[in-house]
Amino acid sequence: MSDFPTKARVVIIGGGVVGASSLYHLAKKGWTDCVLLEKNELTAGSTWHAAGNVPTFSTSWAVMNMQRYSTELYARLGDEVDYPMNYHQTGSIRLAHSKERMQEFERAKGMGKQQGMDLEILDLDEIKARYPFIETHDLAGALYDPNDGDIDPAQLTQALAKGARDMGAKILRFTPATGVTQQPDDTWIVHTEKGDIACDYVVNAAGYYAQQVGEWFKPYGGRTVPMMVMSHQYVLTDEIPEIEAYSKEQGRKLPLLRDVDVSYYFRQEKHGFNIGPYEPNCKAEWAGSPEEVPNDFSFQLWSDDLERIEDIVADSMERVPLSASAGISRIINGPIPYAPDGLPLIGPMPGVKNAFENCVFTFGIAQGGGAGKVLAEWIVDGATEWDMWACDPRRYTDYTDHDYCVAKGMEVYGNEYAMHFPWHRWPAAPDKKLSPIHDRVKALGGVMGAYNGWERANWYAQAGDDTSEDSTHTWGRSGPWEQRIKEECEAVRDAAGILDLPGFSRYRLQGEGAAEFLRGLCTGGIPKVGRIGLLYFADERGRIVTEMSAMRLDEDFFFLITAATAEWHDWEWLQKHMPADAKFTMTNVTKEFSTQILSGPKSRDILAEVSNADLSQGWLTHQSAQIGETWVQLVRVSFAGELGWEIHSKVEDTATVFDMVMDAGAKHGLKPFGMWALNSLRIEKGYRAWKGDLSTDYSMLQGGLDRFVKLDKPQDFPGKAAIQNEKQQGVTKRFCTLIVDAGDCDAPYMSSIWKDGQIVGETTSGAWGYRVGASIALGMIRPDLAVPGTEVEIEIYGEKFRAVVQEDQPLWDPQNERLRA
Ligand SMILES: Cc1cc2nc3c(=O)[nH]c(=O)nc-3n(C[C@H](O)[C@H](O)[C@H](O)COP(=O)(O)OP(=O)(O)OC[C@H]3O[C@@H](n4cnc5c(N)ncnc54)[C@H](O)[C@@H]3O)c2cc1C
Repeated sequence: MSDFPTKARVVIIGGGVVGASSLYHLAKKGWTDCVLLEKNELTAGSTWHAAGNVPTFSTSWAVMNMQRYSTELYARLGDEVDYPMNYHQTGSIRLAHSKERMQEFERAKGMGKQQGMDLEILDLDEIKARYPFIETHDLAGALYDPNDGDIDPAQLTQALAKGARDMGAKILRFTPATGVTQQPDDTWIVHTEKGDIACDYVVNAAGYYAQQVGEWFKPYGGRTVPMMVMSHQYVLTDEIPEIEAYSKEQGRKLPLLRDVDVSYYFRQEKHGFNIGPYEPNCKAEWAGSPEEVPNDFSFQLWSDDLERIEDIVADSMERVPLSASAGISRIINGPIPYAPDGLPLIGPMPGVKNAFENCVFTFGIAQGGGAGKVLAEWIVDGATEWDMWACDPRRYTDYTDHDYCVAKGMEVYGNEYAMHFPWHRWPAAPDKKLSPIHDRVKALGGVMGAYNGWERANWYAQAGDDTSEDSTHTWGRSGPWEQRIKEECEAVRDAAGILDLPGFSRYRLQGEGAAEFLRGLCTGGIPKVGRIGLLYFADERGRIVTEMSAMRLDEDFFFLITAATAEWHDWEWLQKHMPADAKFTMTNVTKEFSTQILSGPKSRDILAEVSNADLSQGWLTHQSAQIGETWVQLVRVSFAGELGWEIHSKVEDTATVFDMVMDAGAKHGLKPFGMWALNSLRIEKGYRAWKGDLSTDYSMLQGGLDRFVKLDKPQDFPGKAAIQNEKQQGVTKRFCTLIVDAGDCDAPYMSSIWKDGQIVGETTSGAWGYRVGASIALGMIRPDLAVPGTEVEIEIYGEKFRAVVQEDQPLWDPQNERLRA
């Protein structure tokens, strides 16, 4: 084969909509010497049989961005690449059966508005006006999305492929990739049945085969791709004369319906309907073990299983009675891959250099356009326009075994349209990683949540408290946890609290050059020996990549401590920047240590009874000491904003340390507290949370982190030039703290901030502060409004509440006197 390309910049494995979109977007960025390998014909995986619905709706900011972009792209793509295709922007009506559902819609509408979309809330008459054939008597209202619609997935893929080819990219059909070999310089050889291709980067876009393809990367640091496969069916009905007449008369199709509380989509297909249930009694396929996935399932389907979905189909026929007059003409039953949270894997392949993932899409038609853009940005620019942590493959670490993936995938599928309440924990597959004192925490009433797989108490229930799942189905602040959170916060304020924090990510950095390495990478200064300090890391655009606490034990010896969920992300960030000839080493010691947070005015008295530490040492110091006979590292910091220490110990000593502190604390009013109390306490101090307040959507200066930036240091750290430039130009947004005259709900992430009828910013987190007795929001606002005393409004689940910008200092203990006590 003379025209077989033996070299390419990027090789993409997989020719579904996502692979094709990745190739198209790479070519758009000028990377035209890229090759896509498809083992069969394009679309042979999940893409060919997809229903092709293209919603923008999401309560995830990142996913909404991606889906919005897809609709914008699909609307112009046919012309752009000269490949006309069937794309009907029919609009959609998403039905609500409850007040909570309407609140969810209001939230999505608000987020949509910030992204420039005009989603509308409909009352029952408005629903009927847009959809005359519907029964509305049991509904609360609906959300109308004018951008929603359906596209022919095969035509879409072909259009993207044509666009890419026209720009010079290559597509090799019927050319399975058979393996990969990494070269000493970290470039790749991708093997195919027709020959080898040398390339700089590889992309796994293999859809439901992504785990198979992922196996090839294990010798180079890879892990098992966290995914499983669900069977999903949709039912096509015969044509219905009334629908034909309506469409002709109106000159348009009916809007797409989604009855999300019953769990199905319902779309006009020609002059009949396409009904797609997400049934709770769902079926995982090839679930026994990963080896069950066949080598080739191209263009295949499973046989129908109407029994599984008949209740939902019957329900849909009551909703649109006209549909009951039509027979079923066809059922499609095909594979959809699911990651444990139902979101795709887009971004750097964990542990492997120069390899990326764009796979495991549940809604690949809706997300494919945006996913191609994001992937191309990851590869070409090393960073994405929108913060994409929600879809970052590194959000999963080592706990996602096969059974976990199957249980979680089934749970997500069976609840595909469910509301994601802030207090609710999805119950499948708990207990992946347990603290050594897990049983003690549970015995004390711990109501648990998972953080990078680690079980931690969110709050402590007392006898008689309702800890049922049902009680958590609210967007409101109130619930059985509210009084307990308040008591936990008050204990921390007035006496002391202890929080068991397993899985705090921790890296040991040791050896010649370690300090210089950190100085050259972080934006600010590094702590002196014996002290601990916060380090921030920016990308080349000056945007916030991450935050770590650096504990300095010696000139060139540090422990870097970071969020549990950031374990793989932050590790890779540091590794990527380590010089090839580094004389220092970096080790991930997360599993070797455990942490208790002891915080509150009595914490010194408690420690004095059990430890030999010098408790007069000031804030932001650390020391080796003993609790009883046991070695601990005592670190004088408090994310809760009170006098306090983090007690770091060897994992095997956790119980000893915990028991001694608890015993000593009994007479001082020591109480265990949970993550939700900690969230309330930290927001009162204005401490930012990673991937809420701190994300690559914002720059260091926008984030109000100026005091962690040292532009006068000689090191040319990433982002320095951009920050310098931004400093001269002035920021377009500015971090601020607001007090909100909120109602029953505190401001969730990405609530709109309004002033004089205009959106002037957004919140990045919100919670009730029990010490200050107010609803607090952290957010970003137009800089001219970031002035203390400025009155604005915050839209919370559709209602606007007065809010006032606060001084740029903590609301609680602004001078940090309690911390320094
Ligand atoms: C019944 C049904 C209805 C659906 N409806 C919708 C919908 O309405 N809207 C929506 O957004 N999503 C829908 N989906 C989901 C959607 O189909 C998928 O999310 C999407 O097609 C995934 O695209 P992809 O490119 O990631 O994967 P795929 O389309 O599966 O493509 C992966 C490709 O990789 C190829 N490949 C694998 N291994 C190799 C190898 N070794 N070498 C070369 N090539 C390889 C495969 O042959 C395949 O073509 C539906 C799915 C089903 C089953």
